[in-house]
Order: sequence, then structure tokens, then C-alpha cells
Amino acid sequence: MFNKILIANRGEIACRIITTARKMGVKTVAVYSDADKQARHVKMADEAVHLGPSPSRESYLVSEKVIAAAKQTGAEAIHPGYGFLSENAEFCRLCEQENITFIGPPVAAIEAMGSKSAAKNIMEKAKVPLVPGYHGDEQSLEVIKQAADEMGYPVLLKAAAGGGGKGMRQIWHSDEFAEGFDAVKREALSSFGDDHLLVEKYLTAPRHVEIQVFCDSHGNAVYLFERDCSVQRRHQKVIEEAPAFAMPEALRQHMGEAAIKSAQAIGYVGAGTVEFLLNPNHENLEQSEFYFMEMNTRLQVEHPVTEMITGEDLVEWQLKVAAGQLLPKKQAQLSMTGHAFEARIYAEDPNNDFLPATGKLNYLNAPAESRFVRVDTGVEQGDEVSVFYDPMIAKLIVWDENRQRALTRLKQALTQYQVQGVTTNIEFLYNLANSEAFANEQIDTGFIEKHHDSLFPANNTLNANQTKIAAIKSALAFVVHNMQQQVKQSPWSQNTGFRLNQKNTLDVELKLDSTNDDVDFNRILLEFVKNQDGEYIFDVTFDSDVSTCQCSAMLQQQQLITTINGHHCSSTAVFENDLQTVHLFGEQGAFTFNRKTPDFGEASDSNANAGLTAPMNGTMVNVLVEANEQVKEGQALVIMEAMKMEHTIRAPKDGTVTALFYQAGDMVSGGAELIGFEAIDA
Ligand code: ADP
Repeated sequence: MFNKILIANRGEIACRIITTARKMGVKTVAVYSDADKQARHVKMADEAVHLGPSPSRESYLVSEKVIAAAKQTGAEAIHPGYGFLSENAEFCRLCEQENITFIGPPVAAIEAMGSKSAAKNIMEKAKVPLVPGYHGDEQSLEVIKQAADEMGYPVLLKAAAGGGGKGMRQIWHSDEFAEGFDAVKREALSSFGDDHLLVEKYLTAPRHVEIQVFCDSHGNAVYLFERDCSVQRRHQKVIEEAPAFAMPEALRQHMGEAAIKSAQAIGYVGAGTVEFLLNPNHENLEQSEFYFMEMNTRLQVEHPVTEMITGEDLVEWQLKVAAGQLLPKKQAQLSMTGHAFEARIYAEDPNNDFLPATGKLNYLNAPAESRFVRVDTGVEQGDEVSVFYDPMIAKLIVWDENRQRALTRLKQALTQYQVQGVTTNIEFLYNLANSEAFANEQIDTGFIEKHHDSLFPANNTLNANQTKIAAIKSALAFVVHNMQQQVKQSPWSQNTGFRLNQKNTLDVELKLDSTNDDVDFNRILLEFVKNQDGEYIFDVTFDSDVSTCQCSAMLQQQQLITTINGHHCSSTAVFENDLQTVHLFGEQGAFTFNRKTPDFGEASDSNANAGLTAPMNGTMVNVLVEANEQVKEGQALVIMEAMKMEHTIRAPKDGTVTALFYQAGDMVSGGAELIGFEAIDA
């Protein structure tokens, strides 16, 4: 076994690898960029080497710097994690030349799977079933379009070098083909430096089922069962589970063997994932067709669900195999128990097309870990989610005896995941886990689109009562917090004229922070006294409701304990914005309320130019219109790129482009006005 390894990665995966290495008595070296000086992975490792500036191109992606760091620290092996250099054959070759073990497959295997097209050629020869399509070398628009026209629509255009759901577009009609072709080529070139494309038949309701395989350098191979990763947004996984639901044993075995055949076709060594599309035959699942999609030649983000059901540590397996040992187990020794889910917690805005979010994690509280709950994360409270890297905050993994119980664990743990300061997808994940269709296993890769309305409840009417209770709790928290602070100059204490054991009255107007514009302020009248135990006792009138409720409240740091009409519960209250905002986290999820201030609400006038600002920091990719051009509602005006995703800014109404403020290639700050626009009816 190695004495010391270097982890050429950051974030949760670097931390996760360090944990296993430490358990095995292997020393660890972290690497970091400017932005990551204080990062968790740096603190966790035995040593850390600075690589360079924050952009990954100048730090984590520079092979020479990583190799130099390994040599400088005497690391004998490099674990690349996922992303970054993990599937970079050139880097793997450099390691070989420098006599450093690459903890992953041989160069040739990475090269063979590096291109989706080349991989398909190999699998075709190995008789692994493929999705119908064209994956040849001839790359003209005419040839690829002809293949699509012959196959019939819808089709899926893919960048051969693509990954992470990027460089992919569905095309529904022949006449959209050329536009899509250009866009995917452009994205492929900018994201992967390679504009080679392939086209496949687009299956409309498949499942994504992938097999975890492992091979050693002595010719042994096993599969560690499957994961279902069908719940996706923009072809990126959101919630994964193992085993796949409703999986007949015969199909599992059939797919497992096909996966091993795929791995062996390229002389694989190490951990790999063979991804299949499963076209379910609902009459007889066992008869379902499955097609090879691609093989990921590395540890997969969602590997923890496999670890939870098998009890194996896949990173430990990786280190052992890389050190030349035999696979720790044979196929017959592997078994699975229970069911596991993983939810990817992202800094992003589900209500704004999952746009990545940035900011400071002002408050971060993850559920307690146990044998049922695991949290893989690379961040701590106070850390910054920057524009430089993937905005994943953590992976929340749960396990229990069966799917239903594991799902209950997932919902519970999600409500306990409390983040403030950055927009997250936690509420969206909760809605997903809580949806009936998800519980009933009515899942395919179109799940999110199909269940859009229940996953994005625009009008929070369904929660009117919960919102009311949360508003009352928030009002109680405001009062108690203020009383505790005794801030002399604040308008609060001036208003209250508070005296111990005398009834005080306070009028609080709170408004739910919501994407729904119709939300109004609620007026909450609180009459209160402090009792001998230091507890505040209230009579609360909500929106002049005739029936008042009796409440009591205590606040210990951020823990708020309330009793409302005899119902006792505990939540977390985080204040912000000079006490004008409270974030309340509790059993019912997270709520944010804002207090009314004299000038509140002035800035919210909508104007005809709304939507023509940059959604975030990024680069202008293409300007599709000219100044003074007349445009139609919905017409694409400019294309921006941020965090390797393209965002098309469209005309909100019929109108005229009055000015263009940026050219292709320009850097643009989030919120900057991109285009002058005058709507016709404005
Ligand atoms: P990436 O390498 O970017 O992850 P994949 O080729 O693995 O891309 O595909 C990602 C996802 O896109 C799949 O899980 C599936 O949901 C969807 N997808 C890929 N190919 C097809 C197809 N031919 N038909 C329908 N969906 C597909």
C-alpha cells in the first residue's frame, strides 16, 4: 500500500478520499487554488500545496503543477477524484512517465472511453447493445442531419467529448436541426475543446440505470449492482438511488454482465461506471431493453449509494487495486441490503432554470450523521460558493431497510439541512422526494418536466396554514431576540416601552419572501409579558383574526422554542439584514420573512426591460440581433455562458432592440444591462 497520496481535486470528493486514506493509514496531500486557501479539504489533509490562481484552468487543471506537487511532497500516487483531470489521458500518461501511480484505469482505457463515438464503436464490436444513431467520423451538417432525418425525430445531438450533461440538445423537428447543430458545436468547443458530434434516437421515457464495475490488474472483474439516476435536470443527476426500484433479479444480472463485458472490452482496471438507458417494458420489466450510453472511467459522484447498500468502501477498493492487490471480494461474496438515496445539494435557483448561485454560506447546519444519514461535503459555514467551481454544497445520502423508509429518512434529513446566504435547491429536492409519483416509482428521465407543477408550487396557497404558523414563530423570534439584545437605539425598544411583568404590545408586519408576487404583508399583533422563567408569554392576533392564540417562546442562540396553542416545537431562527429579515428552519421546511420598513416595496415595479440583464457573471458568447432591430416575443437576442452553461436571453415581448452594450467575448457582470429594449406596447 502507498505511504502517501496526492488528491488532485477539491470540495467534497477531496474530503471523502482523505477520510478513507486516513482510515487506511495513508498520508494525504491536498492541492488548492487561491480561492480555496481556507477550504475544508486543505484543512483535512496532512499537507497541502498551492497550485495557483482560482480559475481551474490555472490551477486544478494544470497537469504539470499537480505532478510537481506530488514530486515535491513525495506522494507515490495521485487520486484524481471526478471531473478535473480524472478522465484526462494525457495527465495519466504524464503520471506514468514520472513513475507516479494514477489511481484509476490505464491510459488506453481512458482514451477508449474519452470519446462517446469511439466508445460506441468499441461496444458495437463487443456486442453490447447501443441506442440507434450515428457516431461516425464524417462531421458535416449534411451527413449528421441526414442520419437524423432517416432515423426520424426526436433525436439527441451530443458532443462526443461531452460529460456532466453538457453539450447535448434534443431536436424535435428537421427544421430546427441546423440551429441546434451550431449551438452544440459551439458549446462542445468551449467546454471540451472538441466539436465532434454524434446523434442518437431520443428515447422519450427511458430510465438511467448504471452499473458500478470494478476490475483489478489480475483479470478479475465484479459489478456492485446498479444505481437508478433517472431524476435529472438538464441531463444532470439530481437524486440517485440504489438499488434501482422494481429491478427484476434477472435483468440486474443481465445488465451487470453486460457492464463487465464493456469493461473487459477495453482492458479496464479500477472503478468504473457503465451507464445504460433502460427502456422499461411495463408489461414485463424483465424483458426491458437496455442500451449502452457511455462508460465513466472514474469514481462517480453518486458512488455513496452503492457503498450504503453493499457496505463496501469504494475508495478503499480503488487504493488497493491501484497498489496492485486483488479485488477485495468476488462476485459471489457481494450482496446488498436495504435502499439508499443521494440528493445533490446545490447552490442554484430551481425557480430560475436552476441557474447556479453564488454567495457566502452565512449559516449552514447539516443533519446529524448516523448509520442512516451521511453527509459528504467540502464546505463549512462562512465559506464562499464562488463562480470558479461547481456549485455543489453537499451530497446528502440516506439509507434504510427499504425504499419507503429510506425515502422518509431523505425527507426528514432534507428539512434538517439548513442553509442561509445562498439560494439552494433544498426545497425543490424536498418537493421531489415528497411527490406521490416519486414514492410510487413513476420515474423516468422526464420526471421533472412531467411533474413541474407539483415540484414548483408557484402559489404557496397549499401551505397557507404552515405559512401562518411560520409567520407567527418569526414574529415571536423577532420580539424575543430584540428583548434579549436590548438594543437601546433600535426603533424596536423605543416602540415597546418594555417593562418587566407588564403587558407590552407590538405590531409586526411580515411578508413571506417568495417568488410569487401576490404575497402580502401579514399584520401580527403581539401582547406579551416575560415570566419568572425568562420565557415570553404572548397573545397573538394574526391579521385581525378574532381568535387570538396563546404562545410562548424562548430563544437560545439560534434555537427557537415555541408553543403555539399547546403545540410545542423547536426551529432555528437566523436573523439578517439589521433584524429586518428572519430565516426560519423547521419541520415544515425553510421560510424567510421580511419586516415592513417605511420604504419597503418601492423597488419592485416591473418594467418592460425586465429580463434583459445578465442572469449572473459570465461571458457573452453570441449577439444575435442588431441595434434598432425589431424582434418578436421569445426571439433569442444574445447567448451568454456562465459556469460552462449557455443561457439564451430572449425578448420578453414584441419590441425593438435600442442598444447593444456587449460584444461576443466580453465578460459581463451579473445584473448588468445587456441590451436596451423597448416593448411595442410600452
Ligand atoms: P453525460 O456524459 O453528459 O452525462 P450521457 O450520454 O451520459 O451524458 O447522458 C446523460 C443523460 O441524458 C442520460 O442519463 C439520459 O437521461 C439522457 N440521454 C442520453 N442519451 C439519451 C437518449 N438517446 N435518449 C434519451 N435520453 C438520453
